[in-house]
Amino acid sequence: MKYDRIVVIMLVVLFGYTPVISGHATTSTNSADNLHVTAQFYDSIFEGDKPNIAKLNLFFTKMPKGGDLHHHYTGTIYAETYLDWVSQKGWYIDKCTFRIVKKRENKRCDITVQALLEDDALYRKLLTLWSDKDYGNHFHDQPPPDSNFFNTFGYFGDVSDEYMDIGLIVIKQRALKENVVYIETMLSRTGVKSSDYFDSVRTKQLNQQLREAKSQQRVNKLLEQIATVLIGEKRFGVSVNEFISMVENNHRGIDSHNFVMRYQTYASRTKDPIQVFVDLLSGYLAAKNSPLIVGVNIVAPENNFVALADYSLHMMMFNYLSNKYPNINHSLHAGELTLGMVRPKDLTFHIEEALNIAHAKRIGHGVDLPYEQHSVELLEGLKNNAVIEINLTSNEFILGVKNNEHPYLIYSSYGVPLVISTDDSGVSRNNLSHEYRLLATRYKPSYMRIKEYVYNSIEYSFLPSEDKYRLKKLLDDKFSIFESEMANLYKKFK
Ligand SMILES: [Zn+2]
Repeated sequence: MKYDRIVVIMLVVLFGYTPVISGHATTSTNSADNLHVTAQFYDSIFEGDKPNIAKLNLFFTKMPKGGDLHHHYTGTIYAETYLDWVSQKGWYIDKCTFRIVKKRENKRCDITVQALLEDDALYRKLLTLWSDKDYGNHFHDQPPPDSNFFNTFGYFGDVSDEYMDIGLIVIKQRALKENVVYIETMLSRTGVKSSDYFDSVRTKQLNQQLREAKSQQRVNKLLEQIATVLIGEKRFGVSVNEFISMVENNHRGIDSHNFVMRYQTYASRTKDPIQVFVDLLSGYLAAKNSPLIVGVNIVAPENNFVALADYSLHMMMFNYLSNKYPNINHSLHAGELTLGMVRPKDLTFHIEEALNIAHAKRIGHGVDLPYEQHSVELLEGLKNNAVIEINLTSNEFILGVKNNEHPYLIYSSYGVPLVISTDDSGVSRNNLSHEYRLLATRYKPSYMRIKEYVYNSIEYSFLPSEDKYRLKKLLDDKFSIFESEMANLYKKFK
């Protein structure tokens, strides 16, 4: 069967959507030829002992990549940009701790960004702490990789929010340069504090009651009480609206004819239960009231002791909220764990509960699948009800899971829908093109499969259907141009 026929059938079956190859017979034939030759070119890259990485880099940098659905705003900005912002603010870097200092109080340690840049050893040291740079390529005093990764956020957190409007433009410009049309970024928590609504005695009591509640019914009862207090307070609604305004203000000028950005808000799974619920409830309300906020998530290290202890409780919170607000989407980080990182029992149920209790529509990572107690049934459930967000670089760095150990091999052979994403491209110092290249070199999926992942990244986004339709049409046009260019290039290579 010809490649164009396969694509059309695949897209119709998957999405009920017919891509426009062309309305004109001659152009249609050209498009089909270009598709065929592009697939041949892609296959040729793998001939010989090793794939031609240089050609793959060119191929994937040019290739339209649709959307990046697992994307954290703060982790996406590179350390160099954060330093620019620190400098613009007139702030300092504490060269003893490598943290941002707003006022120069310690004359021995606090230096300007310019002074830091002029000291190569100091600058390089900062990059190793503010990102994963040089972690694996030379020996130096360093924390465990998962700590190194998650610690980075503590270094640039002070400046990332200050420049959010510019940061979003930086992300958009980078996306356009590597042919990405959609970003769904996890922007921030809503900022609503549980301590503004519950005093310390009541907070302690509620945290304990929530942690002791073992049934969904009991958890629902407690959450209902908390929600009633919050929603009954006018200032809670005001805070949610302030968050929406912040998002709207920072979003100005981002959307254009060839690019769309939308946002997820989230809770941090290392906080106390009451704060997690305040973040989630305010996040759901923000998503309900703003078309820019398309989903809710839960973030932070899944192997943290609080995150592990409260995992099932968090899933029950999502269950409660998804019943209350069925039209609000949520994607959950789940199964970002591996053997040796936690006790074996913690590897057996996280993805299952994210799917079957929290009713997550998308699962971020899903790496511990092989260790889940009901992995086989779970695969069927995931295939029919969810999508896995694959983050290869992040999984290799944080978990040490890569190559033929990665459950991509299980998901792809079972037919679970997949999207390819970056996670934190500033910290990992990668981009979406690199993630596709990594996928191709490791697992050699066909060109048609790669294209399926690209279209998945729009289909399984949390955008409304009319936006998905428009972006898929845009992808059709972009693939037509890309395949024409690659077909011509391939002919010149021969
Ligand atoms: Zn993530």
